[in-house]
Amino acid sequence: LENRWYNCFKGEINNMRVLLAGGAGYIGSHTAVSLIEAGHEVVIVDNYDNSCAEAIARVEALTNTQIPHYEVDVKDKAALDAVFKKEPVDCVIHFAGLKAVGESVEKPVAYYRNNIDTTLTLLEVMKENHVNQIVFSSSATVYGAENASPLYETMKKGTCTNPYGWTKWMMEQILSDAAYADKDLSVILLRYFNPIGAHPSGTIGEDPQGIPNNLMPYVSQTAIGKRECLTVFGGDYDTPDGTCLRDYIHVCDLAEGHVKAVEYAQTRKGVDIINLGTGTPYSVLDIVHAFEKANNLKLNYKIGPRREGDLAVCFSNADKAKEVLGWQAKRNLEDMCRDSWNWQKQNPNGYKK
Ligand code: NAD
Ligand code: UDP
Repeated sequence: LENRWYNCFKGEINNMRVLLAGGAGYIGSHTAVSLIEAGHEVVIVDNYDNSCAEAIARVEALTNTQIPHYEVDVKDKAALDAVFKKEPVDCVIHFAGLKAVGESVEKPVAYYRNNIDTTLTLLEVMKENHVNQIVFSSSATVYGAENASPLYETMKKGTCTNPYGWTKWMMEQILSDAAYADKDLSVILLRYFNPIGAHPSGTIGEDPQGIPNNLMPYVSQTAIGKRECLTVFGGDYDTPDGTCLRDYIHVCDLAEGHVKAVEYAQTRKGVDIINLGTGTPYSVLDIVHAFEKANNLKLNYKIGPRREGDLAVCFSNADKAKEVLGWQAKRNLEDMCRDSWNWQKQNPNGYKK
């Protein structure tokens, strides 16, 4: 309500209809909630490769709305075009992609095929349907190892260490080239840092299939007894406590950043790169201890060897998002740990009953 009033007051921002490609996933589902709360409408397209329709049902219940949603592979041009014809939208947010770093090393062709093709197909279908605004889920990984934190959007992109990272790198390039050629196009490349946490209701959250690759789901699955012990990857880095530093951001803050990004997208053309992080680094052990404290429990963990490809330190400078979008993260590490655990406890098997 507050946002709607503000939008009316400013007289610049119209309520928008936004297509979320990959909108049933972790970040997409939280973004759907924030968009609806800000007075926008959403349409979801997802092939449920790494998600399920139950997530959308939960978003509908949370927001008391009905969301048009389609089980469509974004690479399927005819099917995607049919959705665009049936559901006119002003803007697209492109979340659809494969995202497991380790798996991308094993299956590079599948990663390039899915991630690059979804982007190309979206751009073609958008153009044919006169949709000119796209917000893209990029990643801090494109800064590579060459750039030292804090990472600024003005830095030259670096060398990625895995195919997943390269797909992000290349998709940024593709979207930038498209915007150079088509002066009507408005492209926002959002570089996410480390999203964790869940909606405070505990009804939507991150639902990794199999053994989690990322830290927070591993922590919460260890706490609930699904995993025996968390291995901290490396205790001998050149950091204050020897474990890696990252820029963890609450997924609801990230979601609100997307609302600001789609609103900003309608006011300008060309390409903007924007970090979505907090600007504050925490170590792996900070996360372990904050999780224990916030939830009043003990975590079984041990320090193990380093994981190949990990950087010691990675965090954002978050000034641009504040200046350009008027957005900054509001939630702290305690909120992130409490909300992750709340989701895990209420949904020990994720969206599966
Ligand atoms: P997610 O896997 O939960 O969501 C991605 C969604 O895209 C899933 O619902 C999946 O089913 C869908 N999808 C994949 N390929 C598709 C296709 N061809 N057609 C239709 N749907 C398809 O992941 P997430 O954590 O919500 O991430 C969203 C985006 O943000 C991804 O592009 C990811 O690479 C990027 N990102 C995530 C993180 C993170 O730590 N979670 C960090 C940086 C960037
Ligand atoms: N990490 C860890 N144990 C795990 C998973 C991750 O110690 O089981 C560490 C990892 O080395 C990194 C941080 O936690 O320093 C965040 O890792 P994640 O895979 O979540 O995100 P990344 O920053 O690698 O994208």
